[in-house]
Amino acid sequence: MTNDVDLIKSLTKQDYENNKVNLHIHSVFSDGKSTVESIVNQAKAKGYKAFAITDHNTIQAHIENPNLGIITGVEFDVWYKYIFLHLLAYGIDVNSKGMQKFYAKDKRGTEMDIVRFFAKRNIEELISEIHKAGGIAVLAHPACCWALNMEDFIKDLVDIGLDGIEVYYPYPRWRKYIKFSNPDDLEKIADKYNLIKTGGTDFHGEIL
Ligand SMILES: [Zn+2]
Ligand SMILES: [Zn+2]
Repeated sequence: MTNDVDLIKSLTKQDYENNKVNLHIHSVFSDGKSTVESIVNQAKAKGYKAFAITDHNTIQAHIENPNLGIITGVEFDVWYKYIFLHLLAYGIDVNSKGMQKFYAKDKRGTEMDIVRFFAKRNIEELISEIHKAGGIAVLAHPACCWALNMEDFIKDLVDIGLDGIEVYYPYPRWRKYIKFSNPDDLEKIADKYNLIKTGGTDFHGEIL
């Protein structure tokens, strides 16, 4: 909840570069291979100072595993005009009623690309509910978005309430062929618009 948001705001570039934080982890509650228990144990063994589980379109990992020191997160599939994007919500109240309509209706909506791609979520409404639920909205791996002009795109999202962008992200490892713009520009854009800078590995595997 709010503590999560304060913690995220306190993290530094060094924390991300030294692999002391990981705010982008998928578990078996969506298309990841690891259980929450395994992720928590590995995060402890690695000495992470903060980590978040961000399953696709579901908060279930957090409902079923409270009080383990995991930052609450969800990664939503959502459209902004002609652009498909992933929006990370951090620090939301897991019991928020307003958030319910944005969660996947079934397991397929958390793991099947084709189902997720066609999901209808109103991004303005989603960001507004994330805020009401005490959380922040962060654009995941922005360089993957098919935006003709990255800065204009981010600025438009800021106008509807975006709080941050995922700046520290291993593009070469995960997103080689759907990378549309230069990730090196993102830090500057974040600073220009006073955005929270987050990062993580987009982990889906077994060994963190
Ligand atoms: Zn994503
Ligand atoms: Zn992800």
